[in-house]
Amino acid sequence: MGALELRGVTKNFGKTEVIKGVDLTVNAGEFCVFVGPSGCGKSTLLRMIAGLEDTTGGDILLDGRRVNDLAPARRELAMVFQTYALYPHLSVRDNMGLALKQAGASRSEITAATDRAAAMLELEPLMDRRPAELSGGQRQRVAIGRAIVRRPKLFLFDEPLSNLDAALRVATRIEIARLHRELKTTMIYVTHDQIEAMTLAHRIVVMRQGRIEQVGSPMELYNNPANTFVAGFIGSPQ
Ligand code: ADP
Ligand code: MG
Repeated sequence: MGALELRGVTKNFGKTEVIKGVDLTVNAGEFCVFVGPSGCGKSTLLRMIAGLEDTTGGDILLDGRRVNDLAPARRELAMVFQTYALYPHLSVRDNMGLALKQAGASRSEITAATDRAAAMLELEPLMDRRPAELSGGQRQRVAIGRAIVRRPKLFLFDEPLSNLDAALRVATRIEIARLHRELKTTMIYVTHDQIEAMTLAHRIVVMRQGRIEQVGSPMELYNNPANTFVAGFIGSPQ
C-alpha cells in the first residue's frame, strides 16, 4: 500500500516547462528522499502528487490507480510543509482532528486517532494549547500529527525541518525515522540537508532543472555518483 508511480510527468507554468518528464517508481513502504538545487522542481512535483497542482502531461499512479483527476482529499496521502499552517484559533487536538471531522468521523473516532498520534509524537501534554503557545518544533510535530491521524498511505514532506534550529532538526529527524518504522507507510521527503538525505533515505532522487539526474541508495550515490553534480549533493569528495 502506498506505491507511487510517475510516468512521463511534465508541468508547465505558462510557457516555461519546469518538470520535463519524470519517470519514477516508489515502492510501498519505501522512504524516498528528493534533493536538488532551489528551483529544480521538487515542490512542484510533490504538489502534483498531492493534487494541489495539475499535471501538464504524464500519469501519476497510486497503488496502480491513475489519480491525475482525483481531488487531493481523495488521494489517501498527507503533505507536511515547511511552514506548519496550523489554525491559530484551534487547539492542538482540534487542529489534528479537523480533517477527520470534515470527513464525517465520529467524536470517539477522532479522539482515538488524535490520542494515538499524540502518543507517537509525545504531544499529550500539549493537546489543549493553541499554536501560539507552542515552540516551532512542537508546531511541526502537530503538523506531522495532523497528517498521521488521517492514516495516509503516502506521506509527502516538503523540507519539514528547515525552519527548526539545528538541535531540533536532529531530534525531529530521528522522530520521523521512528515514525516510518512504526507506520511502515511510504514516505517522500524533500530536503536540502545531506545528513537528512543520507540517514533517512532508502533511495535518494537527485533532481536538476525539472529532471531526475540519478536515483539510488545513499551508498550507491556516494560511491558511484553519475557526475560531479550528483556528487555535490551527496557529499562524496569527487
Ligand atoms: P524547488 O522546490 O525545487 O525549489 P519549485 O518546484 O518551487 O522548486 O519551483 C520550480 C520552478 O517552477 C521554479 O523555477 C519556480 O520559479 C517555478 N514555479 C513554481 N511555482 C510556480 C507558479 N505557481 N507559477 C510560476 N512558476 C512557478
Ligand atoms: Mg521547494
